[in-house]
This record gives sequence, C-alpha cells and structure tokens, in this order.
Amino acid sequence: SKPVVAIVGRPNVGKSTLFNALAGEMISIVKDTPGVTRDRIYAEVTWLDREFTLIDTGGIEPDSKDIILAQMREQAQIAIDTADVIIFITDVRQGLQDSDSKVADMLRRSGKPVVLVVNKVDSFQKLMADVYEFYNLGIGDPIPISASSRLGLGDMLDAVAAHF
Ligand code: GDP
Ligand code: MG
Repeated sequence: SKPVVAIVGRPNVGKSTLFNALAGEMISIVKDTPGVTRDRIYAEVTWLDREFTLIDTGGIEPDSKDIILAQMREQAQIAIDTADVIIFITDVRQGLQDSDSKVADMLRRSGKPVVLVVNKVDSFQKLMADVYEFYNLGIGDPIPISASSRLGLGDMLDAVAAHF
C-alpha cells in the first residue's frame, strides 16, 4: 500500500495550508485563529511518479500553552504510530519555540524519518537567515517553504520521497 505522510506542528504554523497546497484542493480548513482543523484529514497526493497518503493531524487546537503541548504530543504520537514519514512544520515568523523542541525530541527518539520544514518563508532573500536557528532542533536540515505562496514545495517533496 501507499506510504503515509503526516504533517505535525504547532497551531497556526500552516499545516492545513500546506495540506491543501499538496492535496490541490481546499480540504482542510485554514483560519487565522487556532482551533479550526476538526479532525484528522486525509488526501491522496501524487508527486512525480510517487503516490502517498497525506494526513493533516491538526485536531482541535486550543489556545492554552499547556494544552497545546499536550495535543502536539498526542498528534506526534499518532504520526509516529501511523506514518512512514513525518513532516514537522515550524514557523519562521514565530521562530523556534519550546514546544517545537519538545516535539522534535519526541520525533527524534521515535526513529521515524522526519522532514523538518520552516514555513512562512515568503521571501527566501529576506528570511533565510532566520531559518538557520531551526538547525538547533537536531532533526536535520530545515527546508524553507511558503505554503501560501507555494515556494519550496518541490524540494520538500523530494526530501519526503527520499524516505519511501
Ligand atoms: P494550522 O493551524 O497549522 O493548520 O495553520 P493554518 O494552515 O490554518 O494557517 C494559519 C495561518 O497562517 C493562516 O492565516 C494562514 O493563511 C497563514 N499561513 C499559512 N502558510 C503561510 C505562509 O506560507 N506564509 C504566510 N505569510 N502565512 C501563512
Ligand atoms: Mg489546521
């Protein structure tokens, strides 16, 4: 059967925007406030000659920091249990956050292949310097993308498909 790829990351980093960009349809709901992806949502994606099943693990994303971390751990565990490759997505505008580091540790310990993505790099020229701090997560080279502008998605998909 097809490989499964799960998108994991903090509320509002752009998981659903990335999911929709890859699915080629507006399947997952994108909103300015956290708490809008209702469930795990699936799409079949084709990249060049590769096919995979993509999961947006958004869940219901509340606002309190404690609950956000608890839910991120839960989502990461679902991804670890069900996915062949995990896309871990962060946000260059908010920068590296504590909860990013905690979830990155959990993903690293799982031994599952992880592709580290830094989203909202809308200008590679202006924002690349801010991408480098994400090397500190210790889960590999951060790949800059802009999900809303569809920048960097080809390089990201190459990195994902390299694990199939
Ligand atoms: P999720 O909570 O992780 O699923 O995040 P969403 O996909 O719902 O996006 C949260 C907000 O970030 C929305 O306002 C999006 O329009 C915005 N967003 C997503 N991707 C990008 C991007 O590449 N650049 C910018 N500037 N904003 C983005
Ligand atoms: Mg979402």
